[in-house]
Amino acid sequence: MSLQIYNTLTREKELFKPLESGKVKMYVCGPTVYNYIHIGNARPIIVFDTVRRYLTYRGYEVKFVSNFTDVDDKLIQAADELKLTVPEVASRFIGAYFDDVDQLNVAKASINPRVTENMDEIIAFISALEKSGFAYQSEGDVYFRSKKFTDYGKLSHQPISELQHGKRVETSERKQDELDFTLWKAAKPGEIYWESPWGNGRPGWHIECSTLARRYLGDTIDIHAGGQDLIFPHHEDEIAQSEALTGKTFANYWMHNGFLNIDGEKMSKSLGNFITLHDLLKEHDANVIRFFMLSVHYRRPISLSEATLEDAKNGLERLKTAYQNINYRIERAEEDYYNEEEQENLLEQLIELKQQFEDEMDDDFNTANAITAFYELAKRANIYLASEWVSIQVLREFLSMMSLFAEVLGLKLEDSDSMRLADDTVNALIEERQIAKSEHNFARADEIRDLLKEKDIVLEDTAHGTRWRRG
Ligand code: AMP
Ligand code: ZN
Repeated sequence: MSLQIYNTLTREKELFKPLESGKVKMYVCGPTVYNYIHIGNARPIIVFDTVRRYLTYRGYEVKFVSNFTDVDDKLIQAADELKLTVPEVASRFIGAYFDDVDQLNVAKASINPRVTENMDEIIAFISALEKSGFAYQSEGDVYFRSKKFTDYGKLSHQPISELQHGKRVETSERKQDELDFTLWKAAKPGEIYWESPWGNGRPGWHIECSTLARRYLGDTIDIHAGGQDLIFPHHEDEIAQSEALTGKTFANYWMHNGFLNIDGEKMSKSLGNFITLHDLLKEHDANVIRFFMLSVHYRRPISLSEATLEDAKNGLERLKTAYQNINYRIERAEEDYYNEEEQENLLEQLIELKQQFEDEMDDDFNTANAITAFYELAKRANIYLASEWVSIQVLREFLSMMSLFAEVLGLKLEDSDSMRLADDTVNALIEERQIAKSEHNFARADEIRDLLKEKDIVLEDTAHGTRWRRG
């Protein structure tokens, strides 16, 4: 199968064809850096990092651009409250952003352009729109004439009459039409500003992404992405500005992730029901948080709770345990074992599982089903490990396949000192040891005892079975 991507613009899964063979230009709307990001904001970050990883795995060279909104009303307010300047607030929270997302194993963008470093380009973009009649000045503000752009509404699939009353469209006395949106905003006394042909002020939100995508990726890009709440007005307005300016298609594929909900409601700063990623990372392993995000298809809603995080922890533990058991067995193997027929059969199974994993990822990045293939791989590894004789070569194949899947999903399977074996895993290993003993496979039984010992699990064989405790 070839890669299919669900495109919000056409509302269909489409075969992915990049503009230039072997290369992908991708733009993901980035955070407004006035505070720590919340765990809902972390969803697009993890999801689109995984999209990028899979495209890279598929052999594409991906140029990945994600902006920082480092000036807007919220930054100005935060600067007031924190008694800092706007650039100080931005640099504090850009630092915090990298500290947090690095832990989630999110690869660095090719570039993270900042609004304040691209002011000349933004002003030039707005001037060009003004020249062509798509923008007009009004008391120091500049607005985009939405109805002049005949395709307005094509991304959100709504007739203009519906959009006009959309609650997210700002209304202002200075606008000629309710649907028009801000490109440039006049500074109030005392506010940070940049000089422009329209007086001192700062850009509106949407114009930054149109300008930055064009500057760093070109007039037309392959993939533009963000959360579903950005479809309207943000992405609709980006399309209008960019296509009005260049007369070309702005982005070929529009991808949007579903919401992360808490207690049945979208997590958001405005509702006040948010948990910052910074705080969640104090209590939960970053790898578990990443695994949790990928356990549901990116377009569906995902619900955050202690129970769903616990499920993710247990699921990931299953994969890690299998991975570590294989490693352990390879390290301690004294002689190799070879059975051609068995070997071929196992290697064939591995190829099938790889195909299954790729088919799922090709199907609009279905990480939830790709994880099912990963579990199956771990299960087969466990079955093989339970056999009396194992081939090191086969074990190495299992190991490299697990590493490959983990790399695509951005997961880490190596143990860290702080990782504890989950109770279920300990029980499963003890059960496996019992079976090995009953089959007189003492080598395997001893191996399991040693493995548990390494994890500080102490076994006591009693007349009524094996008891265990943490040492
Ligand atoms: P914002 O800071 O609100 O502009 O959001 C930054 C990114 O996070 C955007 O792509 C939003 O669509 C996304 N986002 C915000 N809240 C959520 C949520 N609860 N679930 C998933 N994505 C979200
Ligand atoms: Zn944007």
